[in-house]
Amino acid sequence: MIWNEHIECMNRDELREIQSKRLCETVERVYYNVPFYRKKMQELGLEPGDIKGIQDLSKLPFTTKQDLRDNYPFNLFAVPMSDIVRVHASSGTTGKPTVVGYTRRDLSSWSEVVARSLHCAGVGKNDRIQIAYGYGLFTGGLGIHYGAEKVGATVIPISGGNTKKQLNLMKDFESTVIACTPSYALYLAEAMEEQGIDRSKLKLKTGIFGAEPWTDNMRKEIESKLDIKAMDIYGLSEVMGPGVACECSYQNGLHISEDHFIPETIDSTTLKNVDKGSEGELVFTTITKEALPILRYRTRDLTVLNYDKCECGRTMVRMQKCRGRSDDMLIIRGVNVFPSQIESVLLEMSETKPHYLLIVDRKNNLDTLEIWVEVHEAFFSDEIRKLENLTKKITHEIQSTLGINVKVKLVEPKTIERSEGKAKRIVDRRNLV
Ligand SMILES: [Zn+2]
Repeated sequence: MIWNEHIECMNRDELREIQSKRLCETVERVYYNVPFYRKKMQELGLEPGDIKGIQDLSKLPFTTKQDLRDNYPFNLFAVPMSDIVRVHASSGTTGKPTVVGYTRRDLSSWSEVVARSLHCAGVGKNDRIQIAYGYGLFTGGLGIHYGAEKVGATVIPISGGNTKKQLNLMKDFESTVIACTPSYALYLAEAMEEQGIDRSKLKLKTGIFGAEPWTDNMRKEIESKLDIKAMDIYGLSEVMGPGVACECSYQNGLHISEDHFIPETIDSTTLKNVDKGSEGELVFTTITKEALPILRYRTRDLTVLNYDKCECGRTMVRMQKCRGRSDDMLIIRGVNVFPSQIESVLLEMSETKPHYLLIVDRKNNLDTLEIWVEVHEAFFSDEIRKLENLTKKITHEIQSTLGINVKVKLVEPKTIERSEGKAKRIVDRRNLV
């Protein structure tokens, strides 16, 4: 199923022309309408005429999350407020939230890219999609909602939380698709088991999972527990919301809607583009947005771009499943540690559950990493020696993966708090001193 074959399977030279034209228009729009960008470009000695096409992209300034915060709430908007028909905002764990705005045309483009994403993941008009992403200021719920209506699916806008009701409706309304965070999907699987819900009574066949990085091992776990195909969808509110990219049935990278968003990968230190096929920080320039056009937004997500034509027929570039976010990355005794690496190790083991917590501390000027791991009911016995052996095994596996010493603490099933949205995996006590 391809929603917009003309665009999604377009010849890449033709695509480049469209991108170049739209990039020039965007640069002009921000230069004349957004004082922040005019100043940034002037500092670099740039005028709109200096950008003649996509080949000049790297001359443009970057935008960061901090820039959005500094311009709170509406100072990066490129249209008058009378043209803004919707705003969303990110929760922002520290300080001010980041606010994003949309014109009527922006909402239409957003629905278009979500519609493409859903078709890409195999969801169409015969599906009933239960949207368990939060509705409200968070872009997840409403973002998927309008795209799902556009493809003609039956939308069940239940929003996040209320697990018992989720499961009841899933059964009664015969939902075929569930859209939520991957960690909540695992929680739903657990709750299903607890409540003795017979999986064969459900019509569920696909999951649309995003809003947090997750590993292929977690995919396997979700697919086997829920007996569905688990698809990765990607997006961020600063760029648009969910639907910037999505996996196709080959599950080998997420197709980016490049006629709306131009991706680049850069080295986070030198800020130079990395070589083709190398991992780098993902950067996006929006080229159709009216309300909040954004130049070279640094996502902090690490990925590899693959420009080869996909087996599904789409020519749009694929981004590899994100390994993690650079702001989730912990630096422990000089070593880069991603929660996803630990998750992967735990998912390889049958004795543990994929619920874990990383506790980072600093003792006598030395960073320590303690990992709480939930043990499967079946293995959580009183036999101390058995548990000791398991602790040793996990410690060894994680240490050889990360290359640093860690302390593993086994905890009883259900000890670690479950999340209905994005999972909280890290407690960093180093900053509290
Ligand atoms: Zn594909």
